[in-house]
Amino acid sequence: MLITGGVHGDEFEPMAAVRRLALHLKTEILTGTVVLVPVVNEAAFQRGNRTAEDDLDLARVCPGDPHGSPTERVAHELSKLIRKADFYIDLHTGGTACCILPLAGYTNHADQLLREKQRQMAHAFNLPLVWAADPTLNGRSLSVARDTNVPAIYVEHHGAATCDPDGVEAMVDGCLNVLAHVGMLTRSLPPSRVEHDIRETGPDTGYFQGSHLAPCGGFFETSVALGDHVQAGESIGRIVDPVGQRPVEVTAETTGMVICIRTFSSIKKGDHLCYLVETEDNRDD
Ligand SMILES: [Zn+2]
Repeated sequence: MLITGGVHGDEFEPMAAVRRLALHLKTEILTGTVVLVPVVNEAAFQRGNRTAEDDLDLARVCPGDPHGSPTERVAHELSKLIRKADFYIDLHTGGTACCILPLAGYTNHADQLLREKQRQMAHAFNLPLVWAADPTLNGRSLSVARDTNVPAIYVEHHGAATCDPDGVEAMVDGCLNVLAHVGMLTRSLPPSRVEHDIRETGPDTGYFQGSHLAPCGGFFETSVALGDHVQAGESIGRIVDPVGQRPVEVTAETTGMVICIRTFSSIKKGDHLCYLVETEDNRDD
């Protein structure tokens, strides 16, 4: 089992959770091997930023290049670890700019058996949302897992550049649950906290940065919260200038549940502000 944190340098709960897991797993009897990487993107972490100085997003350049820029080289090494694994969990948050509804996501893989394995791992992680999205997205850690048929999930848990102890604990517990689920350690699984099991099939589903782009720069004030259900055309917030004038209303492009919202109010034109997930539930499939 490979577990990674810090693919993005401004997502702190995953880094703390992986460190804590390392301590905890010393006290457990394990079947198999757990490989833990608390901070994949150390250059980005040292910079206090999502990316390293080459400004490449590590989750967009996988499988990387051994002769490329620093981020491309890290992506190459990460991809080697993923290909060697039998299972993979990649831990994330919304970083500096965003807050994300706690979720365990997976690629909507064409192989039904593998897809179901991933869905069960996501359920075992035990966060409110289990979410499958577009399997054709490239450059991510999960794209490498997809291409080598490694069952993999990624996790998002709030963000806004905090290191929330509840988030750290949820990630540690979730990883231990998945380890128990795949038979690597003995642990009784807690009652399910999963509220939604959603499989989106559209193109670019799961691509937060492509959704609800700011029509102009300014100060963004949201009018919705994580978990809210909004109808297409309803307001999700507004952008104003520094003295609060010239408001530009931002409206929902589709109907759905808010699972990602921008929390860093200083925005530039084209920044992503919100992601809505289709709420048709397939829990009883
Ligand atoms: Zn991330």
